[in-house]
Amino acid sequence: MDKNTVLELVARILPASQINTTADDLYDAAADRYKKYAKARKVLDVPPPAAIVYPRTTEEVARLLAMCNTHGINVIPRSGKTATEGGLENWKENTLVVDARDLNRIIKIDEYNMQATVEAGVTLQALENELNQRGLTTGHSPQSKPVAKLGGLVATRSIGQFSTLYGGIEDMVVGLECVFPDGHVARIKNVPRRAGGPDIRHIAIGNEGTLCYITEVTVKLYRHFPANNVFLGYLIKDVASGIKVLREVMVNGYRPSVARVYSEEDARQHFSHFYKGHCVLLFMAEGNQGIVQATRAGIEAAVERFKDGLVEPVDSGLIAAWFARLNWSQKDIDDEFQGMIHNDSHAGFTTEVSADWETIPVLYENVMKRVRAEFPRAHDLTMLGGHSSHSYINGTNLYFVYNYAINCAPEDELRVYHHPIQRIIVEETLKLGGSMCHHHGIGKYRSEWTRDEHGSAYYLLEKLKQAFDPNGIMNFGTIFYQAEGARFLQ
Ligand SMILES: Cc1cc2nc3c(=O)[nH]c(=O)nc-3n(C[C@H](O)[C@H](O)[C@H](O)COP(=O)(O)OP(=O)(O)OC[C@H]3O[C@@H](n4cnc5c(N)ncnc54)[C@H](O)[C@@H]3O)c2cc1C
Repeated sequence: MDKNTVLELVARILPASQINTTADDLYDAAADRYKKYAKARKVLDVPPPAAIVYPRTTEEVARLLAMCNTHGINVIPRSGKTATEGGLENWKENTLVVDARDLNRIIKIDEYNMQATVEAGVTLQALENELNQRGLTTGHSPQSKPVAKLGGLVATRSIGQFSTLYGGIEDMVVGLECVFPDGHVARIKNVPRRAGGPDIRHIAIGNEGTLCYITEVTVKLYRHFPANNVFLGYLIKDVASGIKVLREVMVNGYRPSVARVYSEEDARQHFSHFYKGHCVLLFMAEGNQGIVQATRAGIEAAVERFKDGLVEPVDSGLIAAWFARLNWSQKDIDDEFQGMIHNDSHAGFTTEVSADWETIPVLYENVMKRVRAEFPRAHDLTMLGGHSSHSYINGTNLYFVYNYAINCAPEDELRVYHHPIQRIIVEETLKLGGSMCHHHGIGKYRSEWTRDEHGSAYYLLEKLKQAFDPNGIMNFGTIFYQAEGARFLQ
């Protein structure tokens, strides 16, 4: 089938005003932030989609998916476009990007039952603005909050900066509506809890557009007490000392909203004005006064217990001020992109993993040693370090961060720099029994390890794909490895 036929089929479902075939927009839609440098340099190696379409109703989504299913047209669901792992990258000639831009209604804010229902294309910031005026919050606050939308946030199993208190998006979603490739619309109802078989919300949450299209989401609400926020910061000797304090806080049952430890290198890029060459440990406690005071006392007791690793406390105003500037707006994203047109450097590539408390310090050291010893372009690294930013009763995450000067052709950047580092991080994580993917989704560039990530349980994922997307039209190459796409992995 050629692209004109695809467009004719789409035109039977949507008016021209909801179909975009502008060349620049199609180029932009061909890849996400994973290939942002190649995209900025106009050397993308992936085909543009046939069109971007903007359905306005669930019924239109259902008709589009059913049509694509019948004709074997690849579908890439899209919401806020902040994907970092290739989930929006296109590997097929005949692809429709189904964008949630016009599914943008806040349907209901139910203050009594503490839940809000929105369409997939509502930005989290827009919802939070409405809620904050009423003294409420979702508790979800990824750095991309100003731009990311509820459909994408649920589809990627995203997590926010206050996760240690509120959890990830999977802890927030009460119910949702989603559309499957055959056009079936499934509504998962909003109840506090149920034991009605397996939790089917999780078929949609984290599916990264590979099983279904999420059209509507209901999330929990919490009372919001920003005036009570307390920030605490410390300079510490090393990452392992910080991890010990994080664990102590968590296993004693405290739930600060933020609990983080930064390596010295990562601290330098965030806290150059106060880090003094040390690692940084920081916390934020929030909620009603009683909870905040108790949480503060719990953190201070944990720091005291491990004071051998402590260098000195940090003025809490510095931590509060840093937090206030952390989120990225669309302008920040655009400025970074423009910067890449002129600069041969890549700042802030990340790979985020998780493991239990025992494993995390070992994993951190193993990765640091291997990258320094084995990465052929180690001399081009301008920064290599990381932080832990999401903790649980049984472990925490690690966010490896690496910046480098690019001394190769733009089209070779990922092959020469990012992939070898990512491979070391993923290999070490899987070897030690951790998860190679804490919160950005697998996307396309960790799909070669999806089987290893899940082991014998991969059977369940494979069966889900076969059952819900038997013709393989949903986001080809994402989560599920495709040999055909291997040429884009090199
Ligand atoms: C500056 C910056 C900071 C970030 N900070 C965080 C952070 O703190 N925490 C975090 O978890 N992530 C973070 N991310 C990553 C990203 O914001 C998240 O993955 C986010 O959840 C993506 O949402 P989106 O609406 O932009 O989705 P998109 O980028 O549009 O899509 C992401 C994936 O979801 C699928 N998808 C999108 N919409 C739908 C839908 N309606 N139905 C089914 N599938 C769909 C897409 O096909 C794709 O695979 C950050 C990204 C940036 C650029």
